Amino acid sequence: MAAISSSISLSLSPTNGHGENGYAEIDWDSLGFGLTPTDYMYKMKCFENEEFTEGQLIPFGNIELSPAATVLNYGQGLFEGMKAIRRENGKLVLFRPDENALRMQIGAERMCMPSPSVDQFIDAVKQTALANKRWIPPPGKGSLYIRPLLLGTGAALGVSAAPEYTFLIYASPVRNYFKEGTAALNLYVEDQFDRASRGGVGGVKSISNYARGLKPLARAKARGFSDVLYLDSVNGKYIEEVSTCNIFIVKEKTISTPPTKGTILPGVTRKSIIDVARDHGFEVEERQIAVEELLEADEAFCTGTAVVVVPVGSITYQGKRVEYHTTDANSVCKKLLSTYAAIQNGQIEDKRGWMVEIN
Ligand SMILES: *Cc1c(COP(=O)(O)O)cnc(C)c1O
Repeated sequence: MAAISSSISLSLSPTNGHGENGYAEIDWDSLGFGLTPTDYMYKMKCFENEEFTEGQLIPFGNIELSPAATVLNYGQGLFEGMKAIRRENGKLVLFRPDENALRMQIGAERMCMPSPSVDQFIDAVKQTALANKRWIPPPGKGSLYIRPLLLGTGAALGVSAAPEYTFLIYASPVRNYFKEGTAALNLYVEDQFDRASRGGVGGVKSISNYARGLKPLARAKARGFSDVLYLDSVNGKYIEEVSTCNIFIVKEKTISTPPTKGTILPGVTRKSIIDVARDHGFEVEERQIAVEELLEADEAFCTGTAVVVVPVGSITYQGKRVEYHTTDANSVCKKLLSTYAAIQNGQIEDKRGWMVEIN
């Protein structure tokens, strides 16, 4: 480890825009959710039927692949998304990295790939965050988004699992995911395209889940919506989730969210918000929710690492638009978001041990 960290500081060239205060020289106030290349990425390889053993930090840059790599030909790949946050006291923290590690293992099993152990995954994420420390935004100005990838990088012409796999991690400083910032989302209920189907891979973070959503998303954005809300593919009746985040509805003191039974991505934020909501005295139900019920809810909000917790301002379904009051300072969404953010920022006790310090 010592060898790696010393090689990092040696190889940082003075032309890299190393700020005087240890920060990269970028305008922290204009960060959105675009890619800002950082200094290092992490790479670890393994052959089929073997285990990952050792990886290393290397300068961020392009990777070389066989044109016959299974990730390119057959979509054999998974991704994860997590954030490193800089607290006011200078501590750098990760949120529940073990959850992302476990989810990658479950996805890898579904996609016939070997996966790093939980310890290997967390250690690699820590190394990546620390190597790119100067890109972790100042407190309150965003976070370092960390993107682990597990890819079939070996060549196969016929449909089969790859003979070789690569675990890669890169990172980019980010702030708000939506151009709306933290303002309410206008969601379009998609009744023509499905996101996931029974027995498919909608319940794991397979890269193959996302290209199919580009068209419905582009169509909704062109019509002025923030994002798409998908329905179940069997009945076209029950709400599932948004392109990159889970959804909750609030009715009086009950909060409900669709169950994660294979067609919905089991979000770490979703799982954590369920705990936070119960701490606040809400009844939380995981059950099927028909669109009509969403239209009659008091509030709705979305959760995800990238979006955090964001209110839904309107839902449009088959030409009918329903709006929600989102300006109430006492909204359930705001209450849950502020507790969730306070745990991450270290302002309230982290009684479940969710936060992992890395420096
Ligand atoms: C990543 C993701 C989420 C949110 O999961 P988190 O672990 O909370 O970040 C929700 N839905 C989809 C489709 C996702 O890819």
